[in-house]
Amino acid sequence: MTKKNHPYWINKDNINNTILESRLLPKECANNLGIEQIPDYIIIHEVSLGLGRSPKEYNLEHYAKKIIDDGLRGSKIGYHYLVSDKKIIQFIYDNQCAFHTGTDFNYHSIGIERLICEGIRYPDALHNQAKLAATLMVKWNIPISNVISHKETKRLSNDEVKQCPNRLIEGQYGGFRIFYREIRKCLQERDLFYEILEDVKQLDYQDLLNRKF
Ligand SMILES: [Zn+2]
Repeated sequence: MTKKNHPYWINKDNINNTILESRLLPKECANNLGIEQIPDYIIIHEVSLGLGRSPKEYNLEHYAKKIIDDGLRGSKIGYHYLVSDKKIIQFIYDNQCAFHTGTDFNYHSIGIERLICEGIRYPDALHNQAKLAATLMVKWNIPISNVISHKETKRLSNDEVKQCPNRLIEGQYGGFRIFYREIRKCLQERDLFYEILEDVKQLDYQDLLNRKF
């Protein structure tokens, strides 16, 4: 992949080695809600508000520990995936609800958080988030029109708007326009996390590419 033909100018070595890890929340955690869902939306988040980078301590392990600690303390807030430039952690199964939007979208969507801290290669993290969204679209047959920002869930619910993911909303790295282009590119190039698609191997990818998203 060259800088010229890829929206996020990805570092191919990192990207091809992105590790997927499952750290499902223990059942003692209040944010392990135990409510089933059929996801038909994918919600894009960033772990914190603001436009700058957070300090490098606010890294993957920081948030991976925080979601469990918060749950053990009784917080019901959670999300399905946390994405960095080199690793993705899943905390909650796709077919289980998570309270990640503050709206009714919590009952039929998958929440993907992304790091913004110093010390990560930010374009690679964006690419991984787009690639994960593309993968989950395939897995759950979700159209790209149902891949939306946290902010959009609030707007659609007539709720007080939250600027999440703020950096994409504000147009950094081309904003959502380029983010959606990246998702399409992942689908076209079949650049997907195939580990996640293991049980849907029978899918006809050609058909998927021909379908209008
Ligand atoms: Zn959010």
